[in-house]
Amino acid sequence: MRLTPTVIKCKAAVAWEAGKPLVIEEIEVAPPQANEVRVRILYTSLCHTDVYFWESKGQTLMFPRIYGHEAGGIVESVGEGVTCLQEGDHVLPIFTGECGECSHCKSEESNMCELLRINSDRGVMLSDGKSRFSKDGQPIYHFLGTSTFSEYTVIHFGCLAKINLAAPLDKVCVISCGLSAGLGATLNVAKPKKGQSVAVFGLGAVGLAAAEGARISGASRIIGVDMNASCFEQAKKFGCTEFVNPKDHEKPVQEMTDGGVDRALECTGSVRAMISAFECVHDGWGVAVLVGVPNKDDEFRTHPFKVLSERTLKGTFFGNYKPRTDIPGVVVHEQGAGSGEIYHSFRPFLRDQQGIRFNARREVSPMHFLLGCLEHYLEYRIDGITIRLWVLSERTLKGTFFGNYKPRTDIPGVVEQYMNKELEVEKFITHSVPFSEINKAFDLMLEGKSLRCIFSLDA
Ligand SMILES: [Zn+2]
Ligand SMILES: [Zn+2]
Repeated sequence: MRLTPTVIKCKAAVAWEAGKPLVIEEIEVAPPQANEVRVRILYTSLCHTDVYFWESKGQTLMFPRIYGHEAGGIVESVGEGVTCLQEGDHVLPIFTGECGECSHCKSEESNMCELLRINSDRGVMLSDGKSRFSKDGQPIYHFLGTSTFSEYTVIHFGCLAKINLAAPLDKVCVISCGLSAGLGATLNVAKPKKGQSVAVFGLGAVGLAAAEGARISGASRIIGVDMNASCFEQAKKFGCTEFVNPKDHEKPVQEMTDGGVDRALECTGSVRAMISAFECVHDGWGVAVLVGVPNKDDEFRTHPFKVLSERTLKGTFFGNYKPRTDIPGVVVHEQGAGSGEIYHSFRPFLRDQQGIRFNARREVSPMHFLLGCLEHYLEYRIDGITIRLWVLSERTLKGTFFGNYKPRTDIPGVVEQYMNKELEVEKFITHSVPFSEINKAFDLMLEGKSLRCIFSLDA
């Protein structure tokens, strides 16, 4: 029979104030409650998101707090009702979850769990609204439901991916966040075909993971776009074949390719880069995927977020019908716009053209519209962004959250890709420091010197 878990005393890196160095403290970690799991963290790494919330510029101040969300650990004990995990399991904590019960979890197409979706403003556990961390009786806030900068942490079972026991935790811990976000954006969303060309905007860890996805997909050209020329050398290891500094050109990617690339991934979060990524994909079939998170105060905040939440903005020209091949079939079978795709009502512009006659009693579809009014809508504005013409040319703009991976269902498979030597993880790990020197990792990241810096808590 297992013993009832009790309070554990351990070391954690506590952020007492915004932007101030973390302090290694001895803290108390309460036992896991219903649906919770207490995890012994062996390795954790620093991600930009930790730094962003630690700096807390213009965000809700929530201190003291334990940051950290990329990690690998071992289940120490489980709370009531947890059946999918047991003591000794190896897990990767994930900043967003998979409850398995909500409509998103039940949908094959979404990973945006209603219950456990990322919430940076929640510093407590869901079940009772309390923290499991304390120091001398003072509660310490959680971060992203993970708080991995601690030897022990308590996490909802839905935010833990159970992985292969043979996988080295000091390597696969980086699969926990940024690597998967970039990799999945390419493999699950952009889906380049073998031999296609891919442009990646922003060559940080997420962008390089997107390039790694393009390499795995067998892309023929992988064009890295970044304003910092010094990152180009490193990007070659991730499959980048060519580099562009946008400062040097007006429309560089279009110039380098015959009419544009097949796929583009935007991994910076800059709205200008988002538009560039979208405009540089080839008309007719190009897909641009938005991965980078726009700034909180961004001018186009509303619009990019709508797309980022895995909605799809699709354009069509002549309903994507090939005139000679498909139109004969349209006479007997007609499809309207798919759900979730952004179209507008175009009835006023409907007219017969190009020798194809429509039955006026049929419902108006975007296909009908496009026959008539293309020339009237060379510029179309959505929330201030002029993109209509580009969308009409059959480019697709897609948003993604965590690479569309479902944390518990899909992340173990990414670890297997690493185990099968398909995915190369080591090249993302550029530094490692002892846990006691965690602040060095913040400096390295702020100076742009590291992709991933790992801390070992297994001393
Ligand atoms: Zn992260
Ligand atoms: Zn769910």
